[in-house]
Amino acid sequence: MSNKDYRVLLYYKYVPIEDPETFRDEHLQFCFDLGLKGRILVAEEGLNGTVSGTVEQTNQYMEGLRADPRFADIEFKIDEADDHAFKKMHVRHRDEIVNLSLDEEEDVSPMEDTAEFLDPKEFHEEMQRDDAIILDARNDYEYDVGHFRGAIRPNIRTFRELPDWIKENKDMLEGKRVLTYCTGGIRCERFTGWLKEEGIDDVGQLHGGIVTYGKDPEVQGDLWDGQCYVFDERITVPINQVEHNVVGRDYFTGEPCERYINCANPDCNEQLLASEENEHFYMRSCSPECREHPRNRYIEEHGLSEEEVQAKLAKIEASKKQEV
Ligand SMILES: [Zn+2]
Repeated sequence: MSNKDYRVLLYYKYVPIEDPETFRDEHLQFCFDLGLKGRILVAEEGLNGTVSGTVEQTNQYMEGLRADPRFADIEFKIDEADDHAFKKMHVRHRDEIVNLSLDEEEDVSPMEDTAEFLDPKEFHEEMQRDDAIILDARNDYEYDVGHFRGAIRPNIRTFRELPDWIKENKDMLEGKRVLTYCTGGIRCERFTGWLKEEGIDDVGQLHGGIVTYGKDPEVQGDLWDGQCYVFDERITVPINQVEHNVVGRDYFTGEPCERYINCANPDCNEQLLASEENEHFYMRSCSPECREHPRNRYIEEHGLSEEEVQAKLAKIEASKKQEV
């Protein structure tokens, strides 16, 4: 057993919530009273959250939520942590708890239709089938720091772009056993329902997502490479307990890297993998335009004078010429 003082809970449940606005207000108060921090979405279709707190606070939260018959069987993924994984506590009302931005006639409720659930052991076995296509249902930047070995990377920046990407690449999935996965399982529940509507029938989804897979005592995260991207201050968490292959690559140099930064141009804010050394060399900026942006946060934070900025830009130029 671990002796860490904090925990991070990841959970969701598709279940009708009749008055989501009242639920949101009451739920926010409940979280405040417990001293939790995190981000929770409430919609008529259900609840989706990640919260952090002490062991006692998170226990009280789980007990409290399960006392509500709608959430009696909700599944919590529990991670040990050294501290809170959020700065604040937000509970927000949304139209959906995960947004696939489908037209109304295209939309499917996961409560009505979704693909077969595979537990980690089944998923592990099926990934090794000859006719398996492993499809990552997450965004490109999540894939880049870690994914199942051999998984396909849809080059999408947000989950909303996934249906269009599938329509363009449908050939690849036909006649195959399609296996989908995401962080905690919520995106797959909606996405695989939509896949079935699209006529892609032979689909299995990883129940409980990557996070559950990594905790399974039998598979122990086998066939996962790299880290798992998470939407809180930890940024990534380990999954494969047996071996650790780094698949992330430094945005600037292509060297193995698992360290995330955000572009210093506040209008860009793009998430990139970069070593500390390259962060400083490239002024934490993804492009020449971002580097020279008038509100570049790297320049601000380091109090660089105009001369210092020009000297850094000259060095970057010189390094490019060397490469050629
Ligand atoms: Zn940028």
